[in-house]
Amino acid sequence: MILLLFINKFVLQNYEFFFAYRHPSAFFSYLRTMKLNEPIHDVLKRYWGYNSFRSVQEEAIRSITQDRDTLVLMPTGGGKSLVYQVPAMASDGLCIVVTPLIALMKDQVDNLRAKGIQAVAVHSGLSPRQIDILLDNCVYGTVKFLYVAPERLSTEVFRLRVQRMNISLIAVDEAHCISQWGYDFRPSYLRIAEIRKLIPDVPLLALTASATPFVTDDIMKHLLFAEKNVIRADFARKNLIYSVRKTEDKDAVIFRLLNGVQGSGIIYVRTREGAEKLAELLRKNGFSAEFYHGGLPNAERTIRQEEWSSGRTRVMVATNAFGMGIDKADVRFVAHYTMPDSIEQYYQEAGRAGRDGHRSYALLLVAPDDLRRITTTIESLYPPISEIKSIYEKICSYLQVAIGDGQFASFVFNIHDFCAREHIYIDKVRNALKILSMNGYMTLTEEFENPARLMFTVRRDDLYKIRIEREDLNHFITTLLRMYNGVFTEFRAISEMEIATVSGYTVERVKELLKQLWRMHIIKYVPSNISPMIIFDEERLPAANIYIASETYGTRKDMAEERLEQMGLYAENEKVCRNRIISKYFGEKNSEDCGNCDICIEKRRR
Ligand code: ADP
Ligand code: MG
Repeated sequence: MILLLFINKFVLQNYEFFFAYRHPSAFFSYLRTMKLNEPIHDVLKRYWGYNSFRSVQEEAIRSITQDRDTLVLMPTGGGKSLVYQVPAMASDGLCIVVTPLIALMKDQVDNLRAKGIQAVAVHSGLSPRQIDILLDNCVYGTVKFLYVAPERLSTEVFRLRVQRMNISLIAVDEAHCISQWGYDFRPSYLRIAEIRKLIPDVPLLALTASATPFVTDDIMKHLLFAEKNVIRADFARKNLIYSVRKTEDKDAVIFRLLNGVQGSGIIYVRTREGAEKLAELLRKNGFSAEFYHGGLPNAERTIRQEEWSSGRTRVMVATNAFGMGIDKADVRFVAHYTMPDSIEQYYQEAGRAGRDGHRSYALLLVAPDDLRRITTTIESLYPPISEIKSIYEKICSYLQVAIGDGQFASFVFNIHDFCAREHIYIDKVRNALKILSMNGYMTLTEEFENPARLMFTVRRDDLYKIRIEREDLNHFITTLLRMYNGVFTEFRAISEMEIATVSGYTVERVKELLKQLWRMHIIKYVPSNISPMIIFDEERLPAANIYIASETYGTRKDMAEERLEQMGLYAENEKVCRNRIISKYFGEKNSEDCGNCDICIEKRRR
């Protein structure tokens, strides 16, 4: 009797356990709820030395440790990394982190290693052998964090290994990159869904600093969330004083700012020439200033950034190329000489001021005609379908690919040279390429070291015949087959150096032989290189046969116009607290007046 009562009580207490999880997979996912070996506060203290969590960190960690797919929105510098690092350290297994930029990936890995935590990064800058070893360590070793670039996810090597790893969670950093309606869409992010399908029981944590409610929904959809679950931090910045100045004489306002505010800052402008001119003007007027844009060589950029970070240069006049990886805490002002394309972008850039919590200024300059001018620019950035097709043709001609040729071929693509030659604005070409990529024609890869790649295009028995007929190639082909099993189905990264070592040929000879096999249509071969590349997903088609799905293109442009319109409203606004406008834009419903911005101050005066 007592036993019966006990069982009864147990069933009632665990009602959820018995009845809510009847579906078998849901039942197992209940059992799978992340097992924590150590309280999360202890982990925070032990590895990071912090006593408490910030803002929504703890709430987000609780959510992911209950095995719920979770999207976390926190401003830059808010502490998103700890939201995946702490639960991963508190539990068994490995955490996969998808992140788009190699430089940031390396920083994260170094930081973790400095704490004695095993972390590795897999990106295209490594040789295939190095990647093999790293991934093996993830299967058999004690690696806790595997950082991976999104374009590595769909490689066969990765797909095979990932299923054998003991994975605690997948973290997707800069998750807004998966939304084509967002301001920074990267097609390679769409591959994350494929990996999720291979390891369906692993919960996913998506992190971003900027997503409107519309984009958050899109992120959760593309990352295959089991249910919607967004955790949003407060986006208001209490120490940042937002203001907008309408003026015909922007230079005068800038001089007043530089004379009135102590300390260093950034002035954002739209174009490279604009950056160079304004820096020059400031120097002529006795201010310490330098310019920064994407046209400078890498080394020069690094030097300029360091000069500014250390305080030797006071003002950086920059295009939006200046941003990633700035960790200067005492930036006292960020001025926008021209209006950014969206509130996301404005918030990110202005938010680089005042990281140390001290009073800082975010000033936006607007000339009467600005909005109309920028609308025209946006218009020109999102070309009509006919122009996308024409850019497609121009790229094909530039790369000397004839109609019917080029499937799976890759080419080094110097986008600056192309744009200069064809007189097309670079962002327009980028946008056209994103649309072409979404429709499966060609893809522009990010700028970094690409290893050589190889794939056989003939069947095994045909290859056997060739080996008999061409005795001079037999040794080489046999070596390739021995080294790279499985190159019959898809591209594999190879190393010409390794092939040289194993085959006994010189590296030059290896490259020649690979090209020869390529010309004989036996293999597809992409030499290694350090630069962005264009990869043809399809052979070159006549422009008339290029089909652009309207949903991949019309709405993209509409969304860009919508973002700019919101930015315009922010600039025109004379009534609502600026912090509130921004918070509302990011989906916060109950924000308060900041009391500091130009609007709040004006209200008080009245
Ligand atoms: P995000 O990715 O959101 O831009 P990071 O994860 O890089 O931000 O964190 C920014 C800084 O905040 C880091 O130096 C980090 O160590 C620090 N930080 C994060 N969480 C806490 C915390 N709970 N207490 C103190 N410092 C923290
Ligand atoms: Mg981050």
